[in-house]
Amino acid sequence: MTASVQGSVQGTTGHRLEVARAVKRFGATTALSGVDLAVEPGEFLVLLGPSGSGKSTLVRALAGIERLDAGRIHLSGQLVADGNRHLAPEHRNLAMVFQDYALWPHLTVEGNVGYALRRRRLDASTARARIGGVLERVGLGRHGARYPHELSGGEQQRVALARAVVAEPQLLLFDEPLSNLDADLRERLRVEIATLTRESGATAIYITHDQTEAFALADTIGVLDHGELVQLATPEDVYRRPATPFVARFTGVAGELVGTVVRVLGETGEIRVGDLIVHARCLGPLVEGDVARVVVRPAATSIVEHRESPSFERGSGALSGVVTDVAYRGRGYDHVVAAGPWVLSAIHAAQAHPRGGAVGVLLDPEHCVAFADADAARYIDDLTTVTLTVPRERVAPEMARRLP
Ligand code: ADP
Repeated sequence: MTASVQGSVQGTTGHRLEVARAVKRFGATTALSGVDLAVEPGEFLVLLGPSGSGKSTLVRALAGIERLDAGRIHLSGQLVADGNRHLAPEHRNLAMVFQDYALWPHLTVEGNVGYALRRRRLDASTARARIGGVLERVGLGRHGARYPHELSGGEQQRVALARAVVAEPQLLLFDEPLSNLDADLRERLRVEIATLTRESGATAIYITHDQTEAFALADTIGVLDHGELVQLATPEDVYRRPATPFVARFTGVAGELVGTVVRVLGETGEIRVGDLIVHARCLGPLVEGDVARVVVRPAATSIVEHRESPSFERGSGALSGVVTDVAYRGRGYDHVVAAGPWVLSAIHAAQAHPRGGAVGVLLDPEHCVAFADADAARYIDDLTTVTLTVPRERVAPEMARRLP
């Protein structure tokens, strides 16, 4: 796709967004419970959270489709919503892309895209050139006369994208726009959304429950949990320094280990898990003797042959386990390893390690986070008495011969 086509969107200055203590209730349900949020012009913010966490409500409030019960929204310094004031969506200079495309079925592709220009008072030839340029830009230059039902899902979403950007709005809102599409198409359209949005200069708010999509798209990720914005940070920070255990769990885990804090040096804790000492970044205050839960990111794990690992000695750095599953992933293999009471999944390796084989799993402290878990204290004794050495009978016979 070419970068500059006549009529493509360029040069908009995105809205600066400020949301202060936004509250929205539906009967007994609090969908937003005091959300504060600031987004810079041109920033691409992804709101990530499970279903029901308040993502749509927040975006709909920004769009002006939903009224807040309390709190304020400013767009580029203009107050657009508070307990009393509510500026209509068409006066907010924004556009929205929905999961179900929301195209007018009785209008052609050109008609749908042109509809977004109706307030711009452009002369007919300028409007036509602008529509043609944007349709070219999304790869639908030859489909202008078709109706939505004559297009595939991916093509319909491209029309919706063209309609969103054609009037050069200052804010683009995306409500799970890829969730109805096949995996392959999702990937391609995601790249197109990212490119086109950034080219346009508009500020973007994109909601998803898919952490892979969030990490791939975002300048900034906002994580929502039960109507609260629990973290607002770069993807790197969300991954390395999740603000809460919920954030850690929602943004990719290979597994969790429970142990006792041996000591804390700076922000790194040494946690005894059975025979193993695990190093992890402490989330919140932890002191010696605390029971800690360690969330292990997939990026923390690497697999080593049992024999190759110098660390199968007691008290050393690798978890001994047995491969219980291996799945081909194109760029290598993902393994599931059971180690005593623990199960770690999504352990990537270039080569397959066979099911039933004894292996070691090395843990990179950079991608392990630990937090206090008072509840786990009740069963920590049971867990730590389980030896982490692989019982010989759980190892496949051909592998058992290789064990010391
Ligand atoms: P998400 O987009 O993260 O899935 P929503 O913002 O749609 O979450 O919903 C947040 C909460 O508000 C949920 O508990 C949902 O059931 C509730 N909710 C959303 N819209 C309505 C509505 N129109 N009427 C009643 N409850 C609603």
